[in-house]
Amino acid sequence: MLTAYVHGRILTPEGIFSGRALLCEKGRISALVAADSVPANATLVDLKGGTLVPGFIDVQVNGGGSVLFNDSPTVDGLAAIARAHARFGTTALMPTLISTDLAGIAKAIAAVDAAIASGVPGIIGIHIEGPYLSPKRRGIHNPTEFPKFDAAATKVLSSLKNGKTIVTMAPDVTTPDDVRALVDAGVIVCIGHSDATYDQAKAALKAGARGFTHLYNAMSPLNHRAPGVVGAALDDQASWCGIIGDGHHVAPAALRIAYACRGPEKLMLVTDAMPPVGGEPNFVLQGRPMHTENGCCYGPDGTLAGSATDMATIVKNAVAFLGIDLPTAVKLASANAAAFLGLEQEIGAIASGARADFVLLDEHLDVARTFIAGTPVVP
Ligand SMILES: [Zn+2]
Repeated sequence: MLTAYVHGRILTPEGIFSGRALLCEKGRISALVAADSVPANATLVDLKGGTLVPGFIDVQVNGGGSVLFNDSPTVDGLAAIARAHARFGTTALMPTLISTDLAGIAKAIAAVDAAIASGVPGIIGIHIEGPYLSPKRRGIHNPTEFPKFDAAATKVLSSLKNGKTIVTMAPDVTTPDDVRALVDAGVIVCIGHSDATYDQAKAALKAGARGFTHLYNAMSPLNHRAPGVVGAALDDQASWCGIIGDGHHVAPAALRIAYACRGPEKLMLVTDAMPPVGGEPNFVLQGRPMHTENGCCYGPDGTLAGSATDMATIVKNAVAFLGIDLPTAVKLASANAAAFLGLEQEIGAIASGARADFVLLDEHLDVARTFIAGTPVVP
């Protein structure tokens, strides 16, 4: 079936186009044509003057729609999380598992494999955050879950058959050989929840680590004589940095500094979302009650426990905090994550051959409709 998206502005890598129609077939983008060149057999989708942008890609989603991935490692749980985030423009996400044991990780991987095999829209892999983390920078992670890295870990962590795997680990409690073993097994390694020195972080990058998890949060800060993990992240030009753009986890000035250091290509906006995104404000994490305030989640002792802010809000924040235009903000929420994952031919841009994953934004940048592989997920 041929579909033509008409009467809107369309954001492509070459800029924003008006007076054109976007043609899609079988869930893929085929061409951008003049509005009067739409084939007669096409089904029309009226964009009503809105702006069609690439669907958002979020590499750090712990939950949504009142579902926590750790507690619901099932196809239904994943579908509920993806559905909740699709309301806010996310068309591809990496469900993120908070530190747990290898048996729990294996179960989560099996769920993601099954979800991708059965075509659950929006699930593209798994982000395993921990358990090889620094107790000093544990954040909300439970320290009783921090074992030592070994060969059994490599085997389990690299066992996803469908989709991408990210593992967040701390270079101060693992070795460059551990990083290399995972990278050689096809895993994307990120540095995070780490008290590493600048040199330890650089050694992990040299061993193949590809990025940093939630820049600034839960990592050794930049001191002028001890640049730490934050210094390594801001200094390295090859890796990608996830950054929580809710305006609370990272102050707007710190966001601007990160942008000044790493530019528009290598920052990835993430939500670090918890179940309250598209769900109820209170939830339980590993037996501990969590509550939501100002778009952030907190544990009983006030420790930050991820975010209740959706990606559409974070894109709006990026425009406001960074003073950038919509195409650049969307790039930070979409194309950069696609490149980081090695999926830039598939998702993250409105370009011929790519999957028809779009968000329709109204004039206030609110999400009007979301499409995954050409199918509307938000009517
Ligand atoms: Zn974290």
